[in-house]
Amino acid sequence: MHINLSELRRREGEFVHFEEEIELDQINFHQDELPVRGPLSVSGGAIFTSDETVHVSLDFSANVVQHCRRCLEPIEEHLDRHEELEFRFDIDTEVDSDGDLSIYRYQKTDKTIDLLPYLKRFIKLDLEPYPLCKHDCKGLCPHCGANLNLEEDHQCQEEEEKTGAKDPRMDKLGELL
Ligand SMILES: [Zn+2]
Ligand SMILES: [Zn+2]
Repeated sequence: MHINLSELRRREGEFVHFEEEIELDQINFHQDELPVRGPLSVSGGAIFTSDETVHVSLDFSANVVQHCRRCLEPIEEHLDRHEELEFRFDIDTEVDSDGDLSIYRYQKTDKTIDLLPYLKRFIKLDLEPYPLCKHDCKGLCPHCGANLNLEEDHQCQEEEEKTGAKDPRMDKLGELL
């Protein structure tokens, strides 16, 4: 996902459209490698203005798989985002997503601007930091790990064994029957 700067410069003042599907297997988020399902769809355009600023308008969508923090079931998150970026070659400080505009730097010698690192950054901003499969997810049994959403009246065998509430001789009897 590269913007060709020399082409943009040649077509100064013209909004140059782009559209691309990017294959991205996974994205790193809080030390997790989250699978990305299907391609990342990117569309938008860029314009090179007389003050040597590159304005980029970006629309993208992605499906990212996270796991419920309580029951660990996979959840697919659909992300849709619009971003306005500006690349300037003469600035000291970059402004990352402050309000509606993000301002970044490019070098005079750059032939292209790679948008992928920015796309990844925006995806991470959109991802749910504490994903739940549903707001009242019951999570897992702390003793045996059973999914409590699936077993509403979970009577934990392991818990009973640990606390000695159940006579182990009954198990022997159960095996004989
Ligand atoms: Zn859950
Ligand atoms: Zn249990």
